[in-house]
Amino acid sequence: MTEILAESFKVYGRDDGGPFVLVSDHAGQAIPPTLDGLGLSADERARHIGWDIGIDGVGRRLADALPAVLIEQVYSRLVIDCNRAPGHPTSIVTQSDGTVVPRNQSLSMQDRAWREQAILHPYHQRITQELDARLAQKRAVVVVALHSFTPVMREVARPWHVGLLHNHDSRLAHIMIDLLRAEGLVVGDNEPYALTDTSDYTIPLHGEQRALPHIEIEIRQDLIAHPEGQAEWAARLASLLPQAWRIFCTRYEQRP
Ligand SMILES: [Zn+2]
Repeated sequence: MTEILAESFKVYGRDDGGPFVLVSDHAGQAIPPTLDGLGLSADERARHIGWDIGIDGVGRRLADALPAVLIEQVYSRLVIDCNRAPGHPTSIVTQSDGTVVPRNQSLSMQDRAWREQAILHPYHQRITQELDARLAQKRAVVVVALHSFTPVMREVARPWHVGLLHNHDSRLAHIMIDLLRAEGLVVGDNEPYALTDTSDYTIPLHGEQRALPHIEIEIRQDLIAHPEGQAEWAARLASLLPQAWRIFCTRYEQRP
C-alpha cells in the first residue's frame, strides 16, 4: 500500500498563552479511499464504532471559547485507533460492538505499518511538537483528551452524563469530578472506562510519561449529538477547565 494520504490531523482554535492543549483521538470519520469504506455500509461507519459522536462539535467550540489549540484526528478509529499503542490487540479491530470490519481481516505487516505511518504517528508527532514548543518556553501545559461514549453498550444503559478517566496522576481529574458534580451531573469516576497503562495511549504517552497535568474526559453521546448540546458542553468545559486549573495550582503550589 503506497497511497499518499491527506494529513491525518487538523488543528483548530488558537494559542493565546493559556495552559490547555486539546486533543481528540476519535473525532474523525474519514477512511482512505483505497480501503473502500472498510467494506462497511455508511450506516455502520456512522455508528459509535466509527468515531466519537459529537465530540468534533464540542472540541471545536471549546477551542474557540477558551481559546486553545485543538489537535483533531481526521481518520476513523476503525482504520487505526489513535488511543492505542501501535501493535495493541485493539489498535486495528477486526470487529467492534457486533460489527465485523471486512477490510481489517488478516492484515499484512505492511498494511498495519502503513496505517501507523500515515495516520497514527503524524498525529502523535503533532501533539508532541505542540507540547515541546510550550515546554521550551517554560509554559504550564495541561493535556486535555476529549472523548464521547455510547449511551447503551451491550443492552446496558449507562447512567453517567460524563466520566473522568485517570490512573497515575488523579489530581486534576478529582478536582474536575467535584466541579461537575456541583453542577448536579452524574459523573463517572473511571467510568464508563478506567484509564490503564495499556488500554489507552494518548494520556499515558503525552500526560503521564511526561509528568504533565492532564484530563481525559468522556461525554455521553446523546447529550452532544446535536449542535445545542455541543454548545452547552463546550460552554460548561470552557468555564470549568480554567476553574479546575486554578484550584490545582493553588492546591499543589504550581505556577499557573
Ligand atoms: Zn474516544
